[in-house]
Amino acid sequence: MSGRLKVLDLWVDPVDMEGALERVRGFVEAGDGAHCVFAVNPEKNFSVPKDPELHRIFREADLLIPDGIGVVLGARILHGAKLKRVPGVELMANVCRLSAERGWGIFVFGAQEEVNRDAVAELERRYAGLRIVGRQDGYVQDDEMPDVVHRINSSGAQVLFLALGSPKQEKWYTTYRDQLSTVRVVQGIGGSLDTITGAVKRAPAMWCRLGLEWLYRLLAEPTRVKRQKVLPLFVLRLAFEKAKRTLGAGTRQSTEELQKTGANKKK
Ligand code: UDP
Repeated sequence: MSGRLKVLDLWVDPVDMEGALERVRGFVEAGDGAHCVFAVNPEKNFSVPKDPELHRIFREADLLIPDGIGVVLGARILHGAKLKRVPGVELMANVCRLSAERGWGIFVFGAQEEVNRDAVAELERRYAGLRIVGRQDGYVQDDEMPDVVHRINSSGAQVLFLALGSPKQEKWYTTYRDQLSTVRVVQGIGGSLDTITGAVKRAPAMWCRLGLEWLYRLLAEPTRVKRQKVLPLFVLRLAFEKAKRTLGAGTRQSTEELQKTGANKKK
């Protein structure tokens, strides 16, 4: 996508919620194969570049949404871009609303069987007219995957929500995208089904508005500290990168001024 921003080692598209939905609409209407939507956050900024295949998948992704506050901050500090968060779970809710309006079929793949089942029931309750045309829990052996792909295709779904966690869902997409015959949009939704069923609580709106969803989740699930310890490091790396750029720009400016002065003297 043009205008894609690099924040440290990952990219993000400068879209707001409306822009992201517009892209999703475009993917479905273009009718030319599957497109992917992945979420970008500080954790992935550390994990993805360590795996060259995964790094390439992100570089080539069709849409990378600014899911985490850290990425929004990074885009502001490094590029002066005023992005707003597009949390994956909220985009998913809006894609459901749009799908119900347009009659698009949805296949929900991932999470534990009971979470998957209850989340599907909850989505159908929330969005009148939503067509969930198939579902599958996320604990499938590799040799069963051709059957899952066959069921996704037979369902005629245009939208596939992949809730296998990262990086499993991104790798699944790369392996199977060419075998998807009717799906036009694949959104990696990580643990969103767990929040829809209430198995994992999302932060109250006020915490989200203050950019503190990460802190709420940490307090609610202290074991996430292993994953979230990257946050302070991420902020430090941003500060370092900004300082490097500012110094670099300063040095370039002085060199240009010196060159200009030299040129004037020669005249
Ligand atoms: N999951 C799955 N199959 C697997 C591993 C994980 O379906 O083989 C599901 C898991 O049940 C959970 C989600 O993937 O619902 C991962 O949630 P997490 O919060 O770890 O993902 P993130 O949003 O951080 O990518």
